[in-house]
Amino acid sequence: MKERILLHICCAPCSVGCIRQIRESGMEPVGLWYNPNIHPYQEYLLRRDTLIEYAAAIDLELILRDEYGLRKFTEAVCGNVENRCGYCYALRLEEAARTAAARGLRAFTTTLTVSPYQNHPLIFEIGEKAAAKYGVTFLPWDFSSRYREGQAEARAWGMYLQKYCGCIYSEEARFQTTAPEKPLLCKPEWPEPPRFEIRKISEKICSPLLSELADARPGAALNRADLYGLLISDEVVSLAALLCPEPRTLELAGLITKAEYRGMGYARKLLRHLFGSCGQKYDQIIVGAPGAALPFFIRQGFDRYEKTEILFPPGREETPGTPLLYYTKTLHPAPPAAKKQRK
Ligand code: SF4
Repeated sequence: MKERILLHICCAPCSVGCIRQIRESGMEPVGLWYNPNIHPYQEYLLRRDTLIEYAAAIDLELILRDEYGLRKFTEAVCGNVENRCGYCYALRLEEAARTAAARGLRAFTTTLTVSPYQNHPLIFEIGEKAAAKYGVTFLPWDFSSRYREGQAEARAWGMYLQKYCGCIYSEEARFQTTAPEKPLLCKPEWPEPPRFEIRKISEKICSPLLSELADARPGAALNRADLYGLLISDEVVSLAALLCPEPRTLELAGLITKAEYRGMGYARKLLRHLFGSCGQKYDQIIVGAPGAALPFFIRQGFDRYEKTEILFPPGREETPGTPLLYYTKTLHPAPPAAKKQRK
């Protein structure tokens, strides 16, 4: 069984490369969100919720210590704003050490070191002290070699990418032309994400991917489906097949992404586009999701079980012996209750 270690996570984009490196080393991280240094509140929520979504997508166990700390933080550092980062690191790493001890995890580390703009020696020193205090081990991991790779992947996922380190002082520094210090996470040189387009496509331009989809979904009537693709430089990277089993209902008969592009959010982008563009003509979209794919579809908002017999005409049979549960997503909000009553 893999050893589990606690990973303090400052934000989802910074966590991408760190989680990958820990998993490649044979250990499994348990994430901890504890960042009372992030201000103002809307920014705090954005970063927190981006991490919650990402953790669910990659099956990362996440501990949420949900504490917004503008007042406490500013009161603590206002007399020594220039040296505030030491307090900020200690605040978070002490909580990480305490949580690791409380959860019976031997060791902890932090995503803070992925950023080349952070003070690594100070982080290591404070991490060691926190570990000694709670009787656990601090792993002085320098993740900075994963920085660019992680940021590029975060962009490809469509993650929210913050423009400053976290505290209100770093937000101020971002806009100061004569700032006495550099904002720590501002304007790194991120590679441009690949440009993509989403459109209806013909069978001809996606035949290998369509064959792969047909193998995965035998009997799904793909020959009658409309095909939509997410394309990068004219290459179909992700493919969705849509049927119309009854008026105003769409069925997602298949969804597939090329193996080398999986885990980068392209299927999610394609689905979101389809939800938006089909909302005028259709009320709902259904999907027959085998067990392994179910968490993905639930994260995209599919939630209600429907009986399949009503929707599918005779002759339309799924793989014998493989029961599929159908889930539904409403494509536009129901009319307000007040309007219904006036009818
Ligand atoms: S600049 Fe970043 S590390 Fe320093 S105190 Fe602000 S949020 Fe913390």
